[in-house]
Amino acid sequence: SHALLLRGVTKRYGTGAAVVTALDGVDLAIEPGSITAVMGPSGSGKSTLLHLAAGLDAPSAGDVIIGGRSVVGLDDDALTALRRDEVGVVFQSFNLVPSLTALENVELPARLAGRAPDHERIAALLDDLDVAALAERRPHELSGGQQQRFAIARALAQRPAIVLADEPTGALDSATSREVQDILVASAAAGQAIVVVTHDPAVAARAERIVLLRDGRIEEELPATDASTVA
Ligand code: ADP
Ligand code: ADP
Repeated sequence: SHALLLRGVTKRYGTGAAVVTALDGVDLAIEPGSITAVMGPSGSGKSTLLHLAAGLDAPSAGDVIIGGRSVVGLDDDALTALRRDEVGVVFQSFNLVPSLTALENVELPARLAGRAPDHERIAALLDDLDVAALAERRPHELSGGQQQRFAIARALAQRPAIVLADEPTGALDSATSREVQDILVASAAAGQAIVVVTHDPAVAARAERIVLLRDGRIEEELPATDASTVA
């Protein structure tokens, strides 16, 4: 079955005359073992789509089905549990916990879920991302690019079924970006479903599919070889 399913998803912010329709009837099925790139101009609804797919926010209409379970009608505790079990998220702002070391941040999803961190997986990720030597630093002692790499490691550490990433290579040089692309491709090959919001045609080219958003609707779906024409 699908890793993730959006059915007729509409999201409105605000009320009355100030209402903004950020997503407007979006249908999207994400399969295990696939990489989907979400592209589109600023304000087209990309971040909103990721937030809803992560169960961080509820749709105004339609349904989001994460790992076979509908988010509609779930209370906050159930939603949090579903998210912890199924989803890894990389935010644009990285969202590392400032009081924890970088390594403790990467181990946090496991600890919150009451599981032992996968130390072997984490060591391999930090090594591949070239940040193993920085593991004991606090986030404020790291550059933006280094924080981004720890945020990626945190999202992937427990091999969640679904990985959602908002511009995961935005703060990285092209060699490091390629490293991240390789890790995403390997994660998909291992069965994880990857959804990545990106403006970077090199990242989109590693996806099987590009979903192009405009004004809250899916305007077009393209094979990834067309990335250079939409960036
Ligand atoms: P993108 O990620 O493609 O830039 P967003 O999902 O951030 O698009 O935004 C889609 C639309 O929803 C925009 O018009 C934006 O201004 C609006 N929007 C996003 N988040 C909020 C919010 N929390 N409150 C009000 N409007 C919002
Ligand atoms: P990156 O390419 O990873 O973003 P930068 O070029 O921004 O790295 O930073 C180069 C070096 O400067 C890094 O090795 C990092 O250790 C250090 N550095 C950058 N920003 C900070 C900061 N806010 N605090 C401590 N060290 C920093």
